Amino acid sequence: MYEDLKNKVVVITGSSKGIGAEMAIRFAEEGSKVVINYNANEAAARQVLETITNKGGEAIGVAANVSDENAIAHLAENAISTFGGFDIWINNAGMEHPYPTHEMSLKAWQEVIDINLTGYFIGSKQALKHFLKEQKKGVIINMSSVHQQIPWPLFAHYAASKGGVKLLTESTAMEYAPNGIRINAIAPGAINTPINQEKLTDPQTKKELEEMIPLGYIAEPKDIANIAVWLASNQASYVTGITLFADGGMTLYPSFQAGKG
Ligand code: NAD
Repeated sequence: MYEDLKNKVVVITGSSKGIGAEMAIRFAEEGSKVVINYNANEAAARQVLETITNKGGEAIGVAANVSDENAIAHLAENAISTFGGFDIWINNAGMEHPYPTHEMSLKAWQEVIDINLTGYFIGSKQALKHFLKEQKKGVIINMSSVHQQIPWPLFAHYAASKGGVKLLTESTAMEYAPNGIRINAIAPGAINTPINQEKLTDPQTKKELEEMIPLGYIAEPKDIANIAVWLASNQASYVTGITLFADGGMTLYPSFQAGKG
């Protein structure tokens, strides 16, 4: 338990399922008040909300597309009007779908960049404006990916967006450190969420994926949620501008295992 997270208000984008939903539940377990954000799937957001309120926690659900600046301003206003402000903002919403780069439409490229990178700028801007206005030592966490470092053929748009998230994190962390605002990223490897369902339901693809992970298994959303609460808490008060990789060793060049190469 992180005592200082009690009664803190956390806004989490894309928290109707996957890692975002698990973080919402985990922060609520710490006694934080949670603003769940969803794009279209209201029923899924309601489920997360009920899970939290059934355990005695406090949460609201707000629809907003992360790539729409007005909608995200509305999300921030909702958090302020309901809970009096917010202390932690997590840019988490993301999407991916594969295309050979020479066949990728501008629309497909733009959609991923709009959600995974521009959406993080829009969210960061709302959070920073609020923290500065209230002179609050707030926290921003950006959900990156191992693909901020590992190139990913067929997913050039996704890898480019996460590479952008890395430097967005580092640049804003440096810019707002004098205000006591901490900004970090988490880079998951392979996590068992809806984004990966196709890969994980095919036994051969799952096995190939596991072979790329030195620890040998695909993690659960709670493994990422556990990191997010620590990073947001005072236990991490001297940590800013980092990307914390949670990837079972995927970024350690596993093909060199056992002296190969
Ligand atoms: P997911 O598909 O389960 O959840 C993504 C969430 O983002 C959903 O709730 C979805 O509704 C929301 N979303 C998508 N577009 C949106 C928009 N325009 N506006 C608002 N919300 C929107 O995926 P996940 O695995 O939970 O991924 C969460 C984050 O973690 C993403 O940024 C993803 O890139 C990152 N990540 C995931 C993995 C993994 O293996 N699952 C690995 C590395 C990084």
